[in-house]
Amino acid sequence: MIQALRGTRDILPEEVGYWQLIEATVREILGRAVYQEIRAPIFEQTALFERGIGEATDVVGKEMYTFKSKGGSKSITLRPEGTAGVVRAYIQNKLNAQGGVQRLWYTGPMFRYERPQAGRQRQFHQVGLELIGCSAPRADAEVIALATDILKALNLKNLELAINSVGNGSDRANYREALVNYLEPYKEDLDEDSKDRLTRNPLRILDSKDPKTQEIAQNAPKIIDSLGTESKKHFDTVLQLLTDLDIKYQIDHCLVRGLDYYTHTAFEIKSNDLGAQATVCGGGRYDGLVKELGGADTQAVGWAIGMERLVILLQKLSSSQPVNSPDLYIVSRGGAAEAQSLLLAQKLRSAGLGGELDLSGSAFGKQFKRADRSGAVACLVLGDAEAENKTANLKWLASGEQKAIAQSSLLEMTDELKAKISELKNS
Ligand code: ATP
Ligand code: MG
Repeated sequence: MIQALRGTRDILPEEVGYWQLIEATVREILGRAVYQEIRAPIFEQTALFERGIGEATDVVGKEMYTFKSKGGSKSITLRPEGTAGVVRAYIQNKLNAQGGVQRLWYTGPMFRYERPQAGRQRQFHQVGLELIGCSAPRADAEVIALATDILKALNLKNLELAINSVGNGSDRANYREALVNYLEPYKEDLDEDSKDRLTRNPLRILDSKDPKTQEIAQNAPKIIDSLGTESKKHFDTVLQLLTDLDIKYQIDHCLVRGLDYYTHTAFEIKSNDLGAQATVCGGGRYDGLVKELGGADTQAVGWAIGMERLVILLQKLSSSQPVNSPDLYIVSRGGAAEAQSLLLAQKLRSAGLGGELDLSGSAFGKQFKRADRSGAVACLVLGDAEAENKTANLKWLASGEQKAIAQSSLLEMTDELKAKISELKNS
């Protein structure tokens, strides 16, 4: 039997309710803030990610699924994240021509060649947003607030927002020198990747997962002490706005994005309920990226949430997923009744009532058991007599109360039925 590839998984019906809940929540909360969904391709030219994420990162250096196009002339990569594609689409489609800011969001699968573990896969899913065309600290605070709104609406608790500023290019040049001076004497104690980064990309050393390196990084000079006046002001304003919004944060001096196009704010939201794969949301400002990818000088800020990790948290939180139970369960037995039930189900659905049609043709008792399991609060029952009279028995499952109603009348009472059904479902 052919199995799914390592690091990929099927999202089965028993779990998909959590995904739909996350998607609906995101759509509603971002919709209210007038973010528009954008759908960019899943594969792009490799060069987009090399430039948009940076060749010195793990993602580009080790984790990309890259292959040659059929003709062999182009290198293609399955997207490992969403920002580079969205920014390419923004530039290519001249979304800036509309002036002002663009508020965009996306969702979909991402691909990284990683060691699979709980909450870490090779095909995983993100939802992300980008606020493009605004340099104000209010934009940083808005996107952080929206991330926390989504997590709050999902009832997730035990979350911590960690935040830092990586300043602008010249702040980082100053800091880089101070950091390298500090780290040089410890060079031999650093992990292999970090040794390598000491010359190529020293800021990323702060981000190392190696315990020894982390210990050394703890006492390193802090980047916020290297910020110039403007950068300091930006960061302080973001923090003040978060306080005004009643969003709690912790400054994490080791939280960095080590590439030139990342600027100012960097943040992560972590969960205390996830073990090693704790980060559910990562984001920050990337004022240099649009230009780096060939667009005009355009400031931007955004984040991405890992959906698998949210699903794990939701599963821990509640033992059962939100179910999509039918409004009505339709039971029928006998040739004429079975034929009419299909017709009736279709007509009711057109009129806006959800109905699950039992197709088994088995004994009424068995069909009623399935009706109970379906989560429906009411049944429509058609047997020989009902088929003969063109009626259906409307049976309320909790009370057992039932009544024969003409099929044509049922179609006229859908609003009334819907109201009663939703009242019962919510009680
Ligand atoms: P990590 O440190 O966990 O590898 P990252 O810094 O690589 O995360 P980002 O590129 O910032 O992650 O992506 C944003 C979010 O996407 C992460 O916080 C995480 O929730 C999720 N994510 C990233 N990689 C994976 C993966 N391989 N499997 C599942 N979720 C992932
Ligand atoms: Mg990673």
